[in-house]
Amino acid sequence: MKLEHIGIAVKDLAASNELFSKLFNSSPYKQEIVDSEHVITSFFQTGASKIELLAATDPNSAIAKFIEKKGEGIHHMAFEVADIHAEMKRLVSEGFQLINENPKKGADNKLVCFLHPKSTNSVLIELCMEIKES
Ligand code: ZN
Repeated sequence: MKLEHIGIAVKDLAASNELFSKLFNSSPYKQEIVDSEHVITSFFQTGASKIELLAATDPNSAIAKFIEKKGEGIHHMAFEVADIHAEMKRLVSEGFQLINENPKKGADNKLVCFLHPKSTNSVLIELCMEIKES
C-alpha cells in the first residue's frame, strides 16, 4: 500500500487553501465537492503523496462533526490499493471493521472505503483505488 494522501479537516477552506499554499509554495491543483459526503475538498501535490483539505458543506457532514468533537486537524490517511474489493475482503478476514460495506465514489476520481478507527488504533484509514475509464 502506498500513502496516497493525508486528509485534514478544516473550518474555512478558502483560508486554509491560502495557508497551505504558503506552506507548500504551490496552489491546490484541484477543488472538488463530494456531494455524498457533504464536503468540499482541495488537493495539494506534495512529492509522491497529496494533502487533501476537507471542509463541511453541511452541518450534518462527518467533517463538521469531527471538527465539533476534536477541532481542526488530521482526519484520515489514505492508502492506494490495486484492487479495493480484494483488499476490503482481506482486511475483513483479518478482523478490521469497514465503515462502508461497498466502495463508494470519493474525490479525485477514486473509489474509496473507510476502516473504522475502532479497529485501527483510532486512525481513520481510507483505502482508495483510481477509477479507470474502460
Ligand atoms: Zn481522503
